[in-house]
Amino acid sequence: MAGPSPHKLHSFAELRAMFGPLWLRCDSCRRFRRLAVPAEIRDRDWRLTRFKCGRCGGAGYCAIDRPDQEPGMQDYEEET
Ligand SMILES: [Zn+2]
Repeated sequence: MAGPSPHKLHSFAELRAMFGPLWLRCDSCRRFRRLAVPAEIRDRDWRLTRFKCGRCGGAGYCAIDRPDQEPGMQDYEEET
């Protein structure tokens, strides 16, 4: 496959196309969930988008790897 990416540079759509499922994690609650990429955020710059944890109100971070499969993060719980 060649040619330019059909997605906007640094957008969530591009990130997901490159890395597969995206995750949102809160380091205070040690929880994470799958980050859906609805139309509203598809073209947004992931570097400039901030998320907020629904439980503690702290910062949520976008991750490209499933957090509980990362070294030192095995205790992270998936929120469903
Ligand atoms: Zn939290």
